[in-house]
Amino acid sequence: MDSVPPVVGADVSRSRIPRNTRSRGPDRPYPTGADAGDPSQKAEQASSPVVDMNNEHTSDSLPPQLHQLIVVGGGVAGCTAAMYGQRYGLDVVLLEKAAPGGQTATASLVENYPGFPGGISGFELAQRVHQQAQEAGITFLTDLAKALLPQGPCWTLQGEVDSYCAQAVILTLGAAPRRLGVPGEARLLGHGVSFCATCDGFFYRGKRVAVVGGGNSAVDEALYLTDIAEQVYLIHRRHELRAEAYLQERAFARANLEIVWDTVVEEVVGQAELEKVRVRNVRTEQVSDLEVDGLFVAIGHAPQTAWLEGTLDLEDGFIVTDHLMHTSQAGIFAAGDVRNTPLRQITTAVGDASLAAYSAYQHISALSEMDVASLMGQG
Ligand code: NDP
Repeated sequence: MDSVPPVVGADVSRSRIPRNTRSRGPDRPYPTGADAGDPSQKAEQASSPVVDMNNEHTSDSLPPQLHQLIVVGGGVAGCTAAMYGQRYGLDVVLLEKAAPGGQTATASLVENYPGFPGGISGFELAQRVHQQAQEAGITFLTDLAKALLPQGPCWTLQGEVDSYCAQAVILTLGAAPRRLGVPGEARLLGHGVSFCATCDGFFYRGKRVAVVGGGNSAVDEALYLTDIAEQVYLIHRRHELRAEAYLQERAFARANLEIVWDTVVEEVVGQAELEKVRVRNVRTEQVSDLEVDGLFVAIGHAPQTAWLEGTLDLEDGFIVTDHLMHTSQAGIFAAGDVRNTPLRQITTAVGDASLAAYSAYQHISALSEMDVASLMGQG
């Protein structure tokens, strides 16, 4: 592509501090949930202040519109980065592949996010953050990011539906639930196997369920399920839980929660629906069957960054950043669970996102309009 328009709108030639007022941006309501889920309506939703200098192009051949900032991922980190970017006066677009909310929306109760004594459901917290971003006027687009290509001083983000060009990109891709990788797991997904107790737990009222894992997620899900199911087994591969002490104490005190120590899942068994879980005690090597109606796998999350291999430095799949969220490429930033960080919490995701927006703003400020136009072949 050799003709990309200069960005219009915010004056990026001098620094400004975020204001506590609504910055410029599309003064229009956010699309409803229904149209947000339809990538084909993306074009109608894109109302951010960008220009297309190539008016002679037909709608089929339009070059990507140039934005100042594209945020990829609609969880709490993405919404926060977008809101901060907009407070810096940037033209911001947020790309989300499906429903916004991210992993936060699946947590039954979030007790360690400041400002909510007694806790708040993850779903409600995610909804509130999303609503706040909507009210701030962020443009939400639905598309699946597939590649990032350098374009002069900018980046072209290729999506499944369309391409987008931006002076800076913030990646807040989160992570997807890890799978056990045992026979039967994939086949019975949605038929007894689940990765989200808060989403699917109510199907198991009065039934027997098992949760796999020993971290915060697994114990949190197991505790949640004890209020619904008759009996909950927590299958853990070691003899010590990784979960924080307060969660462990609650788990040990719950009468209908049994911890199956030193045990791994060998197979998920069932025809049309889950019937039982074949487990192996790693100390005794004894194999046995646990008859349950539901199996909740909560063994952590893995970043979905395969599409970034070769573009960014990754460490075990997580995007390598510095303390200001710069990645190995100028103009690309990462925040939240997708980056290499020792702590993956909502609080850290939100902090990362604010810093990423700050760094993106600094980066964009350093690119004058002339730089952008000339380096894109128009100067
Ligand atoms: P974690 O990585 O903390 O825990 C994963 C658990 O799954 C570990 O117990 C691990 O076992 C086990 N595991 C991993 N792979 C396998 C496997 N193949 N087979 C069997 N077991 C396996 O992930 P979480 O999702 O629990 O937590 C992720 C982050 O989110 C953490 O930082 C956590 O603190 C945070 N979080 C916070 C919450 C809160 O504050 N309320 C709620 C949920 C999550 P092992 O211990 O042997 O390695």
